[in-house]
Amino acid sequence: MTKTEKDRPEQVDIIIVGLGIAGLTAAIECHRNGHNVIAFDRTPSLLHVGDIFSIGSNAVSVIRHWEDGAVSSSLNEARCAIDEIQIFDQTGKLQDVNNMEGYRDGEGYVVNRAEAIGIFFEYAQRLGVDLRFGANVTDYWEDEHNAGIFVDGMRIEADCVIATDGIHSKAREAICGTAVTPKKTGSAIYRSGYSAEELSQTHAAEWLTKGKEGKDQLYHFIGKDVTFLVGTGRRGKDVYWGCMHKVYSHPGLRHIRDTKSLQSLHDVSEAWLQVSDVTRALKHITSWEVKHRLEPIITSTPQGKCFDHLVLTMDPLPSWLSKKNRMILLGDAAHPFLPNTGQGANQCIEDGATVAICLKLAGKSGVTTGLRVAERLRYQRVAKIQELGHKMLETLQNAKWEGENAEETPTMVTRPAWICSHDCQQHANAEFHKVASMLDDSKN
Ligand SMILES: Cc1cc2nc3c(=O)[nH]c(=O)nc-3n(C[C@H](O)[C@H](O)[C@H](O)COP(=O)(O)OP(=O)(O)OC[C@H]3O[C@@H](n4cnc5c(N)ncnc54)[C@H](O)[C@@H]3O)c2cc1C
Repeated sequence: MTKTEKDRPEQVDIIIVGLGIAGLTAAIECHRNGHNVIAFDRTPSLLHVGDIFSIGSNAVSVIRHWEDGAVSSSLNEARCAIDEIQIFDQTGKLQDVNNMEGYRDGEGYVVNRAEAIGIFFEYAQRLGVDLRFGANVTDYWEDEHNAGIFVDGMRIEADCVIATDGIHSKAREAICGTAVTPKKTGSAIYRSGYSAEELSQTHAAEWLTKGKEGKDQLYHFIGKDVTFLVGTGRRGKDVYWGCMHKVYSHPGLRHIRDTKSLQSLHDVSEAWLQVSDVTRALKHITSWEVKHRLEPIITSTPQGKCFDHLVLTMDPLPSWLSKKNRMILLGDAAHPFLPNTGQGANQCIEDGATVAICLKLAGKSGVTTGLRVAERLRYQRVAKIQELGHKMLETLQNAKWEGENAEETPTMVTRPAWICSHDCQQHANAEFHKVASMLDDSKN
């Protein structure tokens, strides 16, 4: 890229690496804030899979500004028509009903992950953002005045780099200077999404859709070591299920505690996209009284539609910034979330919106300040939500339904109001100058 400062000297030139939800949001928001963006992804075209994820009101507060609400409307049309999650134990006894505050109609959406990312991508295209696919970024560099990347052997420069290359980030080591890799949590997850037509032959699975036309359902079954989430999307047209289990939770494997040898036993992948045999998932619920309701949903899964991956986590990084503060990690590259938290995508969206405002308020000559303030504004909030996700995973894995201590009772969504009520853009605008004035100049 030739820097466009020759054309519009006030614009901040930004390179974005990775076009997942974090990279796309950063690209959209940086463009909307008047910056000059060029973004790269190594896949030949937009290629995202996954079942459903939830976008809560904290992220919707960003999206609702896009095209006067049209993008939000598209996401809303694609949303699963769910207004509660019913929570059961492994016997099928209803234990709780969660009203999904922050994710209900008009507040947020539970939506197909690939479809949502597609809607973000199409909006970025309509804005005219320079998005390039088939571009594998292999290295990063910075000096006092610029930062940049190497892509397919070409050196490209800008004022700063925003790296959003996901949980298995290569940028992390290049930017932080140390190799921090995600850790195993001891859990793994099977996930699947398929057309509800596949269920039509299966009488035993009718409970999921019959008599519930025009609406969607979400049920969470929580037993010791294993949780099973099942539901529908697009008003009964799609079926989703996910089975999270301790890696040693299969009865025959309980004597083994070493997760490394267990990984090879299970052949569980660290990446999201390893296709799995559904009969393996079935084994985790063989002793459940409610098995007869879940089994037909699992066995109806078409070949190639079940994925199995380890649930990974990462301690908070010491910093998301490079040494000279011209490169920043955002999204899963900086802070992967456990899948049960339901905030991974939301925090990616908050990241992108925040960094765009900080760079605007800092201006081209203050890019390093802009990135430093963005990190400060985001770091503690993200770490706190990650911690909540870990607590939640612990209660899910232990599943003490009859316990006397209410805090030990499993919960699908311990999402306090401060998560969903946050307006990251208002926060960035209000706090930028205060935080900038407190930065230690020696670190510039
Ligand atoms: C199945 C599933 C369900 C989920 N459910 C929820 C949920 O309910 N709620 C929620 O909030 N979150 C959920 N999440 C998490 C959420 O989707 C992630 O937190 C979020 O998508 C991470 O986005 P990202 O942009 O940081 O990373 P990614 O989506 O991983 O994107 C990284 C991008 O970087 C690209 N890339 C990597 N390396 C390079 C390179 N060297 N050069 C160029 N490009 C590169 C990749 O091709 C990819 O497109 C879920 C995730 C999955 C997989």
